[in-house]
Amino acid sequence: MSVTDLKTIAVELQSLGVRTLGGPSGVEGRRGGAGPSDAGFLWLDGAPLTVPVHAEYAERSPYELHLADSGRAGTLFRAGEEIGRVNLHPRPRIYDLETADGTPYWKIALMHLDSLASTVFQRCVYWGTHEQCHFCAIGTSLKEGRTVPVKTPAMLAEVAEAAARLDGAKDVTLTTGTPNRADRGAAYMARCAEAIRESSGLPVQVQIEPPDDFGWFQTLRESGVESLGLHMESFDPVVLARIAPGKAAQGVPYYLSAWEAAVEVFGPGQVSTYLIIGLGEDPRSITEGVRAAIDRGVYPFVVPLRPSPGSILAHETPPDPVYVREVYEMVAPLLAEANMLSQNARAGCVRCQACSALSTFERAFGGGRNGAAPATAA
Ligand code: SF4
Repeated sequence: MSVTDLKTIAVELQSLGVRTLGGPSGVEGRRGGAGPSDAGFLWLDGAPLTVPVHAEYAERSPYELHLADSGRAGTLFRAGEEIGRVNLHPRPRIYDLETADGTPYWKIALMHLDSLASTVFQRCVYWGTHEQCHFCAIGTSLKEGRTVPVKTPAMLAEVAEAAARLDGAKDVTLTTGTPNRADRGAAYMARCAEAIRESSGLPVQVQIEPPDDFGWFQTLRESGVESLGLHMESFDPVVLARIAPGKAAQGVPYYLSAWEAAVEVFGPGQVSTYLIIGLGEDPRSITEGVRAAIDRGVYPFVVPLRPSPGSILAHETPPDPVYVREVYEMVAPLLAEANMLSQNARAGCVRCQACSALSTFERAFGGGRNGAAPATAA
């Protein structure tokens, strides 16, 4: 599979999804919640990818994955034409474990390929109000009994230690609903990160909204947090006000100041923002947002909209792959020029890269991931 092919295929897979056939239990992945919900995890020519597998639009995708009996690999077809082999991630061993009080580890944290990920606080001050983010589905996992409301530092420490030992976890990604309008969860996230570092030694990324006091960034750093996500999902002011009213109320200037303060503490390339494309934005706002981020040392983690079940945007479809590709073609050289390629990120979504095909575009500049599915777990 050539790199050019890989780029097209990766972008198309994330926008169009894939139908799966055969295998013992389908593709390892997850339904609903925050992060790569409703997606399967796979490795394509060394690139990690989360790909929609359950969504309705995936039924119409030209891509089909024929799974081997082992469920560990498959053959990918596009419109009936064989493309090549795909490796699947094994079922994590930690999914068979539980805490002493009987809480299954998978209710505490999930393996996103080789990143252990957890939503620490499963409620959000915006959820169910006019301020709710339209792309978010944080309330659904709790309602469906797939998680617990709050993960304690001790729970996370226990699962992280096991994930590093049994499943080859390389880092921990901690996100959260916004629990209050003051520190936005920073103090509690710091305690969780510290416990994880002590038990597992894994680097931790924390994703929060900008807190009222930027001094929290230093506290997080001292607790062992290595990377920080401060996500402003759109740079189009009209779109941001519509799809993330709570965030829009904090204001773009406040986000920019927070980015600058955070980069002072964590260093260039260790602070990141999600930038979701396909929300109806003016395409010029993407260039503007990407430049605003990179100029401040913030990595723009550009992802196509993936409509999550349970979110307000659940019935939308991801953007046209041609549009997504144009954006990645624009962003990758800017990242290279700023010496901010993804492989320098120590933890979090930028290190993982699976929810964006951007890393396959970074390859032309010596960046991106080129790994393989680990051989852990049977
Ligand atoms: S990029 Fe982030 S949300 Fe996506 S699979 Fe990786 S850790 Fe999870």
